[in-house]
Amino acid sequence: MHSKDFIELEERYGAHNYHPIDVVIARGKGVWVWDVEGKKYLDFLSAYSAVNQGHCHPKITNALIEQAQLLTLTSRAFYNNCLGEYEKYITTLLGYDKVLPMNTGVEGDETAVKLARRWAYDVKGIKKYDAKIIVANENFHGRTMMAISASNDPDSYEGYGPFLPGFIKIPFNNIPALEKALADPNVAAFLVEPIQGEAGVIVPDDGYLRRASELCKQKNVLLICDEVQTGLARTGKMLASDHENVKPDILILGKALSGGVMPISAVLARDEIMLTIKPGEHGSTFGGNPLACKVAIASLQVLVDENLADNADKLGKIFRSEMNKLMQKTNLITTVRGKGLLNAIVIKPTNNGKTAWDVCLALKENGLLAKPTHGDIIRFAPPLVINEDELQFAVDVITKVLLNFN
Ligand code: PLP
Repeated sequence: MHSKDFIELEERYGAHNYHPIDVVIARGKGVWVWDVEGKKYLDFLSAYSAVNQGHCHPKITNALIEQAQLLTLTSRAFYNNCLGEYEKYITTLLGYDKVLPMNTGVEGDETAVKLARRWAYDVKGIKKYDAKIIVANENFHGRTMMAISASNDPDSYEGYGPFLPGFIKIPFNNIPALEKALADPNVAAFLVEPIQGEAGVIVPDDGYLRRASELCKQKNVLLICDEVQTGLARTGKMLASDHENVKPDILILGKALSGGVMPISAVLARDEIMLTIKPGEHGSTFGGNPLACKVAIASLQVLVDENLADNADKLGKIFRSEMNKLMQKTNLITTVRGKGLLNAIVIKPTNNGKTAWDVCLALKENGLLAKPTHGDIIRFAPPLVINEDELQFAVDVITKVLLNFN
């Protein structure tokens, strides 16, 4: 079978809820992937930052294989001999009292919102069911009804109402708007991405998260940071909130918590918040399964042992400097932005109607995989195990493609 056959199969039998770049990947190792015809590409998306540790990292796949041969799932009806070890490891590493294990990122967000509401009623004393959660415009917290109810992007919510009430939507990176929203005494939490990934790598002003955290504290409002995309070394620190020395009251992690091996997410908080949920009041059949626990420990250890945050910081600076140089040479790029190895360029459509999508197709032809977001933005987020030579390969491909694009 060739690429075209695999694409036809998906088209025929799968829901049409995605529009992939037409490459059919069969194998991955580190920063590289190979298609079914054997052509090699540099992966510059990392499954939306889930593969920070690189494809099929041996320490992570070994942890998976070893545990898969022993025990994969007990459900939480019984204890297992891996969950406690993982809970101790992740809470110690990140400095939280407790962790609540889930699977996908959006389940982490759902859990955080439920926790914030419970805390609002049981601890803060907001009248049942008046609690509100402030969210930022252009956010992306996933695809469930909660997440799309919190979204102001019609592509996410249009056609799916009625929506979940209780969200106050304010502009991102806007402290006066936050102050105004916080004046409402029924606010339980502010849910925010430290950098908006899906929106196109929108980096707020320095000091924004710090000030937001101070204002939330003053008003006894929880700061929930959705670090599903920005966390786990991606932006040059273990957490993006570390750049501002901010410790979220509730932290949501996903994606790279498994190095891309399986869906693993986590919600971390202090006891006052986490213990509002009692036995039987929230959970998941697969959350905290032994396989996930071993994979998550290995994935976190790889980030630490291989200093991937430092690598993301160093190579991210080189990458942005190269992109800024390229921007001087072509008016196709209008903006370069990002932090660590979470970066984006904004593409100006050409006179003949070609867009960021066409740029990504040309990048693919030249051995680099990236995907546009919101039409004109290309996100560049390679696995964090990338070295300088590999980064230079990417810079050369992007330069060649953009300077010859017409
Ligand atoms: N939150 C953020 C910030 C994300 O970027 C994403 C996915 O891109 C999610 C939540 C949802 O994660 P998942 O697709 O694993 O449900």
